[in-house]
Amino acid sequence: MSAALHLQRGLRERLRRGEVEITVVEPQSYLTYHPLLAEVAAGSIDPRHVVVPLRRTLPECRVLTARITRIEHATRRAWADAAAPGEPPAPVELDYDVLVVAPGSVSRTAPVPGLAEHGLGFSTVGEAVGLRNHVLEQLDLASATRDPALRQAALTFVFVGAGYAGVGALAELEDMARTAVRGYHNISPEDLRWVLVEATDRILAEESPELAAHTLAQLRDRSVDVRLRTRLESAAGRVMVLSDGSRFAARTLVWTAGVRPSPLLRDTDLPLDTTGRIRCLATLQAVGPDGRALPGVWAAGDCAAVPDPHADGAPCVPNAQHAFAQAELLAANVLVALEGGPRAEGIVEYRPDRPACSTSLGLGRAVAHTSRGGRLTGRRAWWLHRARHLRRLPSADRRVRVLMDWVLGGLFSREVVSLGTLEHPRSEFEAGFGTGVTDDRPT
Ligand SMILES: Cc1cc2nc3c(=O)[nH]c(=O)nc-3n(C[C@H](O)[C@H](O)[C@H](O)COP(=O)(O)OP(=O)(O)OC[C@H]3O[C@@H](n4cnc5c(N)ncnc54)[C@H](O)[C@@H]3O)c2cc1C
Repeated sequence: MSAALHLQRGLRERLRRGEVEITVVEPQSYLTYHPLLAEVAAGSIDPRHVVVPLRRTLPECRVLTARITRIEHATRRAWADAAAPGEPPAPVELDYDVLVVAPGSVSRTAPVPGLAEHGLGFSTVGEAVGLRNHVLEQLDLASATRDPALRQAALTFVFVGAGYAGVGALAELEDMARTAVRGYHNISPEDLRWVLVEATDRILAEESPELAAHTLAQLRDRSVDVRLRTRLESAAGRVMVLSDGSRFAARTLVWTAGVRPSPLLRDTDLPLDTTGRIRCLATLQAVGPDGRALPGVWAAGDCAAVPDPHADGAPCVPNAQHAFAQAELLAANVLVALEGGPRAEGIVEYRPDRPACSTSLGLGRAVAHTSRGGRLTGRRAWWLHRARHLRRLPSADRRVRVLMDWVLGGLFSREVVSLGTLEHPRSEFEAGFGTGVTDDRPT
């Protein structure tokens, strides 16, 4: 969306004259701003405010609600599946002159027994809202039950994978739950158990080692049980079995164990590296067989292996900072190439600013590094973190709405009501007929 937005601006007159056409193919009708999902889960931001509708933002573009299934760049054709739910897929063939590939990444799953039945993901707005409701429901369950084992399992929250998604979601939800239990006569914050399981020897692999170490210290200060070099081996029967030999019951299992490049890339004739990302030059053009730019193909974001000058030319790590900066540069380079051919003078290499990273760890708590190497914690880091994301959100309308959510959140105490019934809007009505609904959530 970000690349299309910049192209739309640069080509406005030519789009209106019908000389060029931009088609955006995307199965969702909106962009999801992932870095704020943890705050959606914590109830600090309204879910609708972290998504940006494509058709409203890209009025000059043709937006196709579909999923690309194959790309054949040799003949400059792509195929998309566009179908209403329940209908058989209807393949659409699209011809193009210029291809921009940015399908991002998908969650990396693993064949862990019990994971498919009991695990929750955390990469969509629906999952963020669902997880919030689930956590609040566990507090109700723990308060109501007379079974100590069930109470213990309800108050144990396990997150597997300590990247952005796992760390952000755990920290925000722990903060929210700590506030929520104040309203329960028989649960105290010390009764809650939060476990973060990470297979490698560090957390936040996408961030600098200093920020990661700092975040780890903060989490442990808050009694979060962080297990490094540890894997989840089984979750069958909601009993967590870890590779360090521990075993305990938990009713909340959140799977945030990293991402891999979009599987779509394997169904293309584009050049891929060993991890499955598109091999790119620093100009964001795909690499051709002669090592020079492959004419007409550009890539950005998580799916693109773009050399990072701050990492001795190793590919940029998948994060939002790179994705947005690359999208902007990609659009500028495409505009230059459209004027002067694929190897035009004026195409610029990607030279990112030094990473300016931060992680929110709940209300008023964050860790942040500035691009000059400064280190901040607590409220100052939190303000900086919020300012950065507010600036990066790709819609003025959404920026105002998120800002208003934060202002209102500052004036009133945290909202800790669970609206789990929203996931089953027909349940009350069906109960009136004496029929039950099937609860298909992995609770
Ligand atoms: C929960 C979470 C928290 C995060 N927090 C942070 C953070 O704090 N800071 C940070 O820097 N980064 C963070 N990230 C990472 C960051 O969000 C990603 O690096 C960034 O979104 C990558 O942008 P992208 O455009 O490459 O991919 P995406 O934002 O994933 O967009 C890809 C789009 O392509 C679409 N798509 C996929 N396949 C197809 C197909 N076959 N056809 C058509 N469309 C397709 C998808 O629907 C999606 O809309 C977080 C990620 C998650 C999941």
